Amino acid sequence: MTVLMSVRPRATLRVDLGAVTANVRTIGSRTAGELMAVVKADGFGHGQVDVARAALAGGATRLGVTSLDEARPLREAGLTQRILSWLNPPGADFTEARRLDVELGVPGLDHLHAIARTAPGARVHLQLDTGLGRDGAEPARWDRLCRAARDAERDGRVRVVGVMGHLPCAGRPGHAANARGRDRFAWGLRVARAAGLRPADHHLAATAATLSDPLSHHTMSRIGAGLVGIDESGTVPLRPALTLTAPLVTVRSVPAGTAVGYGHTWTARRATRLGLVPVGYADGLPRLASGRAEVWVAGARRPVVGRISMDMTVVDLGPGSPACAGDPVTVFGPGDHGEPTTAQWAGWAETLEHEIVTGLSARLHRRSTG
Ligand SMILES: *Cc1c(COP(=O)(O)O)cnc(C)c1O
Repeated sequence: MTVLMSVRPRATLRVDLGAVTANVRTIGSRTAGELMAVVKADGFGHGQVDVARAALAGGATRLGVTSLDEARPLREAGLTQRILSWLNPPGADFTEARRLDVELGVPGLDHLHAIARTAPGARVHLQLDTGLGRDGAEPARWDRLCRAARDAERDGRVRVVGVMGHLPCAGRPGHAANARGRDRFAWGLRVARAAGLRPADHHLAATAATLSDPLSHHTMSRIGAGLVGIDESGTVPLRPALTLTAPLVTVRSVPAGTAVGYGHTWTARRATRLGLVPVGYADGLPRLASGRAEVWVAGARRPVVGRISMDMTVVDLGPGSPACAGDPVTVFGPGDHGEPTTAQWAGWAETLEHEIVTGLSARLHRRSTG
């Protein structure tokens, strides 16, 4: 009897967890503060629990997530480190935070009162808006929040263990908004202390500020993008952790004048060979990169031609290409061998690397290596 192991062409996303550990070590060498590994959005698309473990191995001591839903799998995986969750509506089930022993971000009085009522004794981090105009308490409401938190703390209903902010332009190290954000954070800490709070943790910097702006370091940095090799400040080389490969499904020789893909946006100007790669926008390749992107195949960069479609992408292999059906295509990787990187894909798609890595679909077969 013949057993067919797999007849389906397999697009495989390899996650190099050793790169995550190395990145955390690199970042840790730039700050005296503690490192919180921010493993939101499935660990930036790299696998939340794996990335958390790899980051802890590299020296991170805590974990951070947006909603409580993102904290649960970490506890279920047996991770016992301190976890902070900072993005929950005031009606969230904060009893779950107590059950999971998760610390909570508090951006205003609604949250403070809800937490004090439903999760008495919870450890909280007060959030100050340090210039994003997005999350955290506005400065005009900060003093009131600090005093209300102090009252709640005196009654034993919360414990204020931290104050946090987030910088708006950390990817541009000299930007004036960062200095304003730092000043506002220092002011916010003074106000909190004057109200009688004694937060042991004060944390403002994420990856880019940790790497490029020592004045933003307080007792801790919250590192997300840097775990997976992204430094928006461009100051420190970190190691990308993803490699996406797929086998060519077919290779065909076509005459000049052959139009390719939906809308016929590309036509062969000469006879050539075309390869079909079984990944498309449903796998997370940005359609906007159609006609711009390249892949690595048979030892060379080759252009993506025609529109990237839902499940497949066509590559112009060139007239003399030795590539055959079944040969591997590297869509992106760390760049060691000449293959494109996720940073390049982001450029082709006019977006951030963050959006590329968090947009990869669950349909891709994933394999993690230590
Ligand atoms: C996502 C996030 C971080 C991590 O930022 P990176 O730039 O990805 O390191 C830190 N703090 C908050 C509040 C965040 O939302």
